[in-house]
Amino acid sequence: MRIAIVGYGRMGREVERLASRAGFSVVAVVRSRSDWEGRLDIVNAEVAIEFTHPDSALPNIRRLAEAGIDIVCGTTGWYDHMDEARRIVEEAGVGLVYAPNFSTGALLIFDTLRRLAPHLSRLKAEVGVFEVHHSAKKDAPSGTAKRMAEILQNSSLNTPVSWLRVGGVVGWHLFLADLGDESIEVHHRVRSRSAFARGALLAAQLVRGKKGLFSFQQLLTDFLNADDN
Ligand code: NAD
Repeated sequence: MRIAIVGYGRMGREVERLASRAGFSVVAVVRSRSDWEGRLDIVNAEVAIEFTHPDSALPNIRRLAEAGIDIVCGTTGWYDHMDEARRIVEEAGVGLVYAPNFSTGALLIFDTLRRLAPHLSRLKAEVGVFEVHHSAKKDAPSGTAKRMAEILQNSSLNTPVSWLRVGGVVGWHLFLADLGDESIEVHHRVRSRSAFARGALLAAQLVRGKKGLFSFQQLLTDFLNADDN
C-alpha cells in the first residue's frame, strides 16, 4: 500500500521506520506546516497517516480529503471538530479513521471498561482515571483518559481524571474502582511508540476504500470478529 506520512515528529518517524518493514511504500512525507507548499507527491498516496498538532488536524483532514486520500488521524485534542471532519470526508467520499490511542491494548481496555461500568454503577463504586505522559505532550488530560471517563460516565459513574507530565513516559493509564473493602485496578502501559505506529498502519489497511468517519475501535472490532480470522 502507498502511504503518505503527515507530521514528522516522534510519531511520524516511528511510522516511517516500521512502514517499510511491514511492506508499505512511503511515497510522501510532509514534515511541517510550511512543508505543504507546492506538494504534488501527496496525490500518489492511497492513505495518509497524520500525527501533527491539535490545531493542524482539521486543516490537514480537509487537504487530504480534497486530494481523495483516505486518512488515519492519530493527532489528539481536535475532537470538538468531529462533526466538521465527518462532513468533509463524507462530501469528499474518502475514509477517515481516528483514535486517541492506536495501541490495540488500549482498545481492549475500553472494551473492558464498557463491560465493567454498568456493574460498578449498580454496586455504587467510586471510580477514577489517572494518566502519565512525557513532558512534551501538548494536551491534558490525554484523549485516552477522556475516552475512559466518557465510557464510565455513560453508566452514570462520576469519574475524576487526573494526570502528570514527566520525563519521557510514552503512555500510562490507570483505572481505579473502589468498592469499599476491595478495589479493582486496571493498568495499561505502552512500552514504546511502536505500539501506536503499528496500530496506525493496521488502521491504514482497514480504512482503505471505506467512506466516512470511523473510530479505530469500530474497524478493529469488525476485524477481530471477522469469520476469516
Ligand atoms: P511531535 O511534536 O513530535 O511531532 C509533530 C510534528 O507535526 C512536528 O514535527 C510538526 O512540525 C508537525 N506538524 C505540525 N503541524 C503540521 C502540519 N500542518 N502539517 C504537517 N506537519 C505538521 O508530536 P508527536 O509525539 O509525533 O505527536 C503528534 C500528535 O499525535 C499529538 O497530538 C499526540 O498527542 C498524538 N499522539 C497520538 C497517539 C495515538 O495513538 N493516537 C500516539 C502518540 C501521539
